[in-house]
Amino acid sequence: MNHISRIEIPIPFPIRSVNVYFIEDSIPTLIDGGFHSKEGLTLVENALREKGVRLSDIKRVLLTHGHLDHVGLAGRIQQSGGAEVFIHPRDTDKCIWNIETYAEKKKAPFLRFFREGGLPENIVESISGQMDARFQSFFPGDFAVKDLEIGKKIAFDTFTLEVIHCPGHTRGSVCFFDRENKRFFSGDHLLEKITSNPVVELETRENGNGYKSLSHYLESLEVTAHLDIAQVLPGHGSPFRGHRKRIEEIKKHHRSRRGEVLRVLDSPSMTRDGMNLFEITMAVFPELRAWDIFLGMSEILGHLEILQEKGLIDVRMVSGRHLYRAVNH
Ligand SMILES: [Zn+2]
Repeated sequence: MNHISRIEIPIPFPIRSVNVYFIEDSIPTLIDGGFHSKEGLTLVENALREKGVRLSDIKRVLLTHGHLDHVGLAGRIQQSGGAEVFIHPRDTDKCIWNIETYAEKKKAPFLRFFREGGLPENIVESISGQMDARFQSFFPGDFAVKDLEIGKKIAFDTFTLEVIHCPGHTRGSVCFFDRENKRFFSGDHLLEKITSNPVVELETRENGNGYKSLSHYLESLEVTAHLDIAQVLPGHGSPFRGHRKRIEEIKKHHRSRRGEVLRVLDSPSMTRDGMNLFEITMAVFPELRAWDIFLGMSEILGHLEILQEKGLIDVRMVSGRHLYRAVNH
């Protein structure tokens, strides 16, 4: 039986830590690449050393998605021993950070999203500075990735992992399922203590291709609920059991949040013309500051898209901003 160890790496975000899983195998493999920091690198190296393995012995890194706390050290690992790094093609753009195209490709779509959502200019400026600081501190470097194929079975000495596409948290989020042993590496798709954020996909939104993060996320949850899973090995927090119960809790959470959004738009204090995304976000989450405002806006936008699909709200473009209102207004 291949042995699997969880390496927990602290991260400077509210979620506090991220997991890397090391699979002892004739092709030593990591699931996710941890966080790009000195501490992160030392923790991974030390955990591997206890198993008699060096960083350069890692030959394969399977990424659940392209967020920087999951990709972080993949480039460093590839440099040291030539590991192959795999990611779903829809998340490749997220994990390749090019210093020359950062401002135009990574940052500009965020700033457009904030301004269109009605975020005051002083907050846009402060988040913009925060993005630059993050980019400089955690830049994971250039490295080569290969495409993960959906449904493909990845062979280990004593088991196989199946690639399951679970779009929602990101467009290219995948989970790795060991069907035989009922183990499910969930990345950020399914977490025990935190409701995973279906983050808005700015590029595809601007291309108008119709991808809607929260709707896709809820569909992916249905797919997951049908799998026969005994143990979830998540991207954050400890492994847990009872995936169906957890999925029901998450669905309930989203239903109640959607009700909250509708109540805000239905409230007598709302102007006749409607509210912009930032105003609705702050009405639901008044305590949000800085970068967390983006995550709040992402989540609220997901609910607005569903409410609009259901015909409960309408949206108009007024002076370059979308304004939302309940249909009975
Ligand atoms: Zn993530």
